[in-house]
Amino acid sequence: MKIICVGRNYGKHAKELGNPIPEKPVLFLKPDSAILRNNKPFFYPHFTKNLHYEVEVLVRTCKVGKNIAEKFASRYIGEVGLGIDFTARDLQEECKNAGLPWEISKSFDNSAAVSEFFPVTDYKSIGELNFRLDVNGKTVQNGNTRDLIFSFEKIIAYASQFMTIKTGDIIFSGTPEGVGPLQINDHLEGYLEDKKLLDFYIK
Ligand code: MG
Repeated sequence: MKIICVGRNYGKHAKELGNPIPEKPVLFLKPDSAILRNNKPFFYPHFTKNLHYEVEVLVRTCKVGKNIAEKFASRYIGEVGLGIDFTARDLQEECKNAGLPWEISKSFDNSAAVSEFFPVTDYKSIGELNFRLDVNGKTVQNGNTRDLIFSFEKIIAYASQFMTIKTGDIIFSGTPEGVGPLQINDHLEGYLEDKKLLDFYIK
């Protein structure tokens, strides 16, 4: 499986990092070794001094497909979850400034925290999901998937032009505004539609 991530997919977040609103989805990948499951603690990596949280709504695909038309893309979405796209913001800035790929800042071990997944049929509309992240009991990010610049269907249609979508691929759809740094002992709690799905510590 692979993890497909979308950058700059909420307008206010693109702005807070000084980036333009993209005309096409900005895609990058994380390897399967990046997955952190079951609310296990995240260990602060030695190679960064500016680790950021980015809470994101996830979908897991349930079919294989290539060149998927947007109008059929929802058929490929099997499950929904919540995740944290951990980012070494200092390394990312270095890579961006040098015009280089930013994988080392985004794709390191445990950089993709994922919740339990739930059938997409449990939700009325994945285009209208509330989600939020609390750090140490204080809400730091609050989003709704209606504000996605590129919907889940658009992401799948676009990505599948370049890479085959496989069963069990996970899509990180992008983060709303409010990203920020984390410290050791911080407590992260993530909610999707008022259900707590993420609850773990930085160690
Ligand atoms: Mg992200």
